[in-house]
Amino acid sequence: MNDYYADLGVARDATADDIKKAYRRAARKLHPDVNPGPEAEEQFKKVSQAYDVLSDPAKKQNYDMGSDPYGGAGAAGFGQGFSFSDVMDAFFGQGAGQAQGRGPRSRQSRGQDALVRLDLDLADAVFGAEKELTIDTAEGCSTCHGAGTQPGTGTRTCEVCKGQGSVQQVQRSFLGQVMTSRPCVNCQATGQVIESPCYECSGDGRVRTRRTMTIRVPAGVDTGTRIQLAGEGEVGPGNGPQGDLYVEVAVRRDPRFQRQGDDLHATLELPMTAAALGATVPFETFDGVQDLEVRSGIQSGEQIRLRGLGVTHLRGSGRGDIIVHAMVQTPTKLNAEQEDLLRQLARLRNEEKPTGRVADPGDGSIFGKLRDAFKAR
Ligand SMILES: [Zn+2]
Ligand SMILES: [Zn+2]
Repeated sequence: MNDYYADLGVARDATADDIKKAYRRAARKLHPDVNPGPEAEEQFKKVSQAYDVLSDPAKKQNYDMGSDPYGGAGAAGFGQGFSFSDVMDAFFGQGAGQAQGRGPRSRQSRGQDALVRLDLDLADAVFGAEKELTIDTAEGCSTCHGAGTQPGTGTRTCEVCKGQGSVQQVQRSFLGQVMTSRPCVNCQATGQVIESPCYECSGDGRVRTRRTMTIRVPAGVDTGTRIQLAGEGEVGPGNGPQGDLYVEVAVRRDPRFQRQGDDLHATLELPMTAAALGATVPFETFDGVQDLEVRSGIQSGEQIRLRGLGVTHLRGSGRGDIIVHAMVQTPTKLNAEQEDLLRQLARLRNEEKPTGRVADPGDGSIFGKLRDAFKAR
């Protein structure tokens, strides 16, 4: 009859916890994964057998009453049945050995999100637009319907990880022997190996494709705005659920308008005479040509506002304004008659010998006005 208490090195009145701890100590020292060699293996079989009996209340009771479940038959083969993760379970409680492995992984997983850039004209941002978008993406394989196997074939259990999806490794650390598990490379952690990969998708369950779609761009978007299209991204491996598609907007530079928030700024060159006399100037906007009323005596830098003709607010309703900045043009290349008329005008206005008054650098000057117009940038 074996002395299991001696084999484990515990007293006869040892508690279940003492027995567990003793086995843990011994296994850490003797497990074949940790300590290869016939001597350690033999010893490990002995402590494993002792632990098997003493950790099971029914077996322990029988043993204490004089019956040995392994009596005389020897320890042949015993011990191999205990994988190192079983030992780890004994150390840390049920399932601890699987803490990192978590069993085989599904071949199917969610597709990646995709980000594409969409160039827009300013008019598209003002009103919103429907745009065609061509994206390179992945879709489910129609030959194998995501299984990755050649039709009529199947999978077999991975011989490297025995279907576990992970491979256990023992490493030495300052804590002693530490078991780690890493995903199995042979089966991509799925526990199953495809015998004949689908010729269409090479076993991935999905194929690359180019897809054209029409997307609705809301009014008010600006460069950097991202539009999320849920479930329009790539199909995942194994025909898994689609990721999301993000469309990042880039608004092209407009030759006429500069955007500030939802307002659009433009500079209007006005002949000196029109600025002096006042005029109605046709002004093209995204809503068609508007009559721009230029008051007589307008100065360079003065603003004319066209309300509600700017960019639509992205959230909420209403639109920004168009703000036209006047820029008075001084005539050049005067002919004799024009020069004569201007000299007459100068004489009539007592401006033949101008003093050139220095303007207040505050709001009255053109620099002040320009500064005000752009300081909100
Ligand atoms: Zn396929
Ligand atoms: Zn494997």
